Amino acid sequence: MNEELKKQILDKIKEYNKIVICRHFRPDGDAVGSTKGLGAILRATFPEKDIRLINDDYSDYMAFLGKEDEQVDDQFYSDALVIVMDTATEDRISNKKYALGREIIKFDHHINVSPYGSVCWVEEERSSCSEMVAEFYSFFKDELTITKQAALYIYTGMVTDSGRFRYSSTSPETLRLAAIMLEQGIDTDKLYANLYLDEFSELKFKSHIYKSMKITENGVAYVFVTLKDMKKFGITQEQASNSVFYLDGIKGSIIWLAFIENNDKSIRVRLRSRFTTINKLAEKYNGGGHACASGASVKNRAEAKKLIADADAEIREYKQNNEGWL
Ligand code: AMP
Repeated sequence: MNEELKKQILDKIKEYNKIVICRHFRPDGDAVGSTKGLGAILRATFPEKDIRLINDDYSDYMAFLGKEDEQVDDQFYSDALVIVMDTATEDRISNKKYALGREIIKFDHHINVSPYGSVCWVEEERSSCSEMVAEFYSFFKDELTITKQAALYIYTGMVTDSGRFRYSSTSPETLRLAAIMLEQGIDTDKLYANLYLDEFSELKFKSHIYKSMKITENGVAYVFVTLKDMKKFGITQEQASNSVFYLDGIKGSIIWLAFIENNDKSIRVRLRSRFTTINKLAEKYNGGGHACASGASVKNRAEAKKLIADADAEIREYKQNNEGWL
């Protein structure tokens, strides 16, 4: 699929001696895995090129994969190719200097609401952007070099963004490409320990979430996490944001939401669903994302209540008109 776009991207990569790779802010495993994965493949294949991974923020959760590069002066960008991974819209690009690049490529798997760049390769049905990096490698495997470390980065993104290959976006092709990564000799025991072991404080926080979560009449599970909670449990904003994953196993609750208080008191919303979709709801509240995994933001609890009521109405309608949900 999209052979022409992949060829155009490889041609651009060959054409430039300087390449900057970036991703969305508040990075997850896929944003980090896809940038580092592509970067590692390009460094191994083109050792003569100056390839930098540059972003303005980072993820503590992904720190085990190692650092990115320091920001560079504007001059560097003037003859550089900038490849933006896993980022649907330009306002979400972490590296604020990205637009200084001579040329920009969009390389993404989110719904393509706002195309950008001179080459725009978007495959919305892919389970992760890292899967697209694996596909890019596989397509050009006679020309590109992969390393064990590159495979680890890519596999990390694939595992995390597909919910350990559980979400419906996981296709036969996802597993075939994951197999190619595994063939490079990844230490999965170590990877899963890094990804899935909790700090003691996080488990205490998890028990707090289970105690404080609520559910609406039609089955929207939700939880609020305040700055005070984070202080009390000694957890970071990022760890607090994981609370959305604790709500994902409740029967009949096909939409679940986590409201996380930001330092400026505004509230970040993480929306998740199964069977039904929530991206339209997210768009109504300054957000967007995937059909079943989106983000939004609300100003205060009153607006949060409205969002919860809207989600409840969505579930009611869905349950009235569909069968087979759980
Ligand atoms: P999150 O809950 O932050 O992991 O977001 C889930 C998905 O929605 C990710 O793929 C994000 O890229 C996307 N997303 C999150 N917040 C927003 C936003 N404000 N606008 C558009 N997309 C978003």
